[in-house]
Amino acid sequence: MYYNGLKQAQTILKGQVNMDLIREVNAVKMFMGKLSHGVDLLEEITKICVDQDIYLGRIEALGAVKKARLGYYNQQDHEYHFFDLNQTLEITNLIGNISIKDGAPVVHAHITLSDKDGHAYGGHLAPGTIVFACEVAIQVLDGPNFERGLDQETGLPLWKMNE
Ligand code: ZN
Repeated sequence: MYYNGLKQAQTILKGQVNMDLIREVNAVKMFMGKLSHGVDLLEEITKICVDQDIYLGRIEALGAVKKARLGYYNQQDHEYHFFDLNQTLEITNLIGNISIKDGAPVVHAHITLSDKDGHAYGGHLAPGTIVFACEVAIQVLDGPNFERGLDQETGLPLWKMNE
């Protein structure tokens, strides 16, 4: 893998990537803790960000949920399709970021959940996912504003990078 990566890197010249879409950010600090039993997973993480004035950051979490509501974005229709998983599930991975939408912190997270047989479900984390137990780490970042606005090409509220 390392060799392939090196070989690939040698064929890439500096200046070929659109760095207008990439920003440098710096790690400031981390919060780590657990969420209360029975809270809404997405809402609770968002509340921590609002409470602590976190406008830029990254999130990771693991644990278990009582039930889940996830989204899948239909790229043709430009609409989210939401579905419910009415069963207890493990959070095998949650990864997300914090940025700004309409002047407030917004959490964008994707989650992978597994059932009693180890089968996995995944998608865009939506309100309606209820915590059984959850350990969360939030890394606070310092950098330019990452502000979301409607992207015409995808129909999604993507980061506006002064395009
Ligand atoms: Zn998403």
